[in-house]
Amino acid sequence: MATRVNTLERSAVAELSEPRILQNYVGGDWVPAKAAGLLDVTNPANGEVLARVPLSGKADVEAAVAAANAALPDWRARAVGERAQFIYALREKFLQRIDELAASITREGGKVLSDARAEVTRAIEVLEVACSTPMTMQGRVLEGVSRGINTETIRQPLGVCAAITPFNFPAMVPMWFLPFAIACGNTFILKPSEQVPLTSELMCQTLGEIGLPTGVVNLVHGAHDAVNGILDSPGISAVSFVGSVHTAKYIYRRAAENGKRVQALGGAKNFMVVMPDAIVDKTVSNVLGSAFGNAGQRCMAGSVVVTVGAAKQAIMERLKAEAQKLMAGDGTDPKSALGPVISKPACERIHECIESGVKEGAELLLDGRRPKAVPSGGHFVGPTILNNVKPGMRVASEEIFGPVLSVMHVDTLDEAIELINRDPRGNGTSIFTENGAAVREYTRRIEVGMVGVNIGVAASPAYFPFSGWKDSFFGDLHVHGWDAVEFFTRKKTVTSRFFSAGETGKYFVEQGDKH
Ligand code: NAD
Repeated sequence: MATRVNTLERSAVAELSEPRILQNYVGGDWVPAKAAGLLDVTNPANGEVLARVPLSGKADVEAAVAAANAALPDWRARAVGERAQFIYALREKFLQRIDELAASITREGGKVLSDARAEVTRAIEVLEVACSTPMTMQGRVLEGVSRGINTETIRQPLGVCAAITPFNFPAMVPMWFLPFAIACGNTFILKPSEQVPLTSELMCQTLGEIGLPTGVVNLVHGAHDAVNGILDSPGISAVSFVGSVHTAKYIYRRAAENGKRVQALGGAKNFMVVMPDAIVDKTVSNVLGSAFGNAGQRCMAGSVVVTVGAAKQAIMERLKAEAQKLMAGDGTDPKSALGPVISKPACERIHECIESGVKEGAELLLDGRRPKAVPSGGHFVGPTILNNVKPGMRVASEEIFGPVLSVMHVDTLDEAIELINRDPRGNGTSIFTENGAAVREYTRRIEVGMVGVNIGVAASPAYFPFSGWKDSFFGDLHVHGWDAVEFFTRKKTVTSRFFSAGETGKYFVEQGDKH
């Protein structure tokens, strides 16, 4: 008997310590994935397994598509103002739960809590902009295209829309799409990054709390199989993607081949130009924030500084001195300026990049490979600066996606522009100068989608479009701003007239339709 009790106790303890297996959110219910595969979700600061995420397949995607399609007629028929009310309610929930959302982002993604809160604030800003859909979704009417004839263009939803999102902004990036898609009358499927699925789970819980009709938003966890299920599903009309260049190209090609509307945002290599007249202290703090914020894991991270002429002498010493003060550590510790990078493979790849820079002749001005006093089991890299980087080196061309700043030196702004325009990507860039003519020349000639002037990370606010150029973006319509309703609706043009047989009626004398 004693043995049996011990066995029961042991299995209860095992059950308690067994990580939770996440479920998909389909038609308003939390359901286990049909596919068998599972992946550990870990806290990158200490390696703790937080949960296990299912690697959903085609059948799981199709279940979500069926739920989204079933919800479509009623959702689409609701007044646009009523749909917008749900977005208002979601904004309220995000405000109430901002600490919980930020804690979740930090736990599964590693970024410091202040960055996580800033991310949720950006997500809230998008929700606020999507509340204006009753205005932005309006069409156009032209009276009298011919005698007695009007033509109007109206916007209608596309149907079921899906978004596939990356690990580095688990709250903000899904919110780039979800609120606009549903406010426009579409239903929606989210496939979050398998590395950070918990924040999406939390966000979907809030959808239940605001009473969003079931099936309007669905969540499918997973990786490649789930993505391919989305790309090939005939029930999905549009795909939004954010991630690396390689995956963006693949998604764009396969989704477009299957007749879907698609916007695919890719990775980046962002250059920051420092002119000799730049204000040194402000420039250095912006450059460091841009390079090392979120441990360099931002598509808008400034990963290369290009000094022009005497700017080299002006900023290098200060850059090193200030960067040395930035401590890597657990994101929940207020002393940490940067958290861990997302995973062990990411950490190893960043180390390889640093080593390749040294081998190829760059000067290792600051080495973050062995940061001090970081928690054990985490994947930490401290701020790293490679000086005298030359075009053609791996660190000059690869997106490192870690806290590594490369520094290049040129003699003229023309040279800097040429160097930057040779890069195949073009997401963000910054120029630091007080010279308006240099700014005008730079913004006119630079082949990059988002430009900062004396600002390190020039991510557009939610009421402007966000997107890079060249390999940083495949598609036509950018994220949020006016482009959002353009992406999530299709235009229909109606030309109409009404006959009255030219009668002089009892209640009015017709003047506009003389046949
Ligand atoms: P990733 O491309 O590895 O993954 C993004 C999504 O695609 C995930 O949901 C993943 O499950 C899926 N995926 C990955 N490989 C796939 C494949 N072969 N087939 C099908 N699906 C696949 O990107 P990541 O590592 O999660 O995120 C970091 C990258 O995202 C960086 O390159 C960064 O610059 C980029 N990013 C770009 C922007 C932007 O606005 N341009 C914003 C954030 C992140």
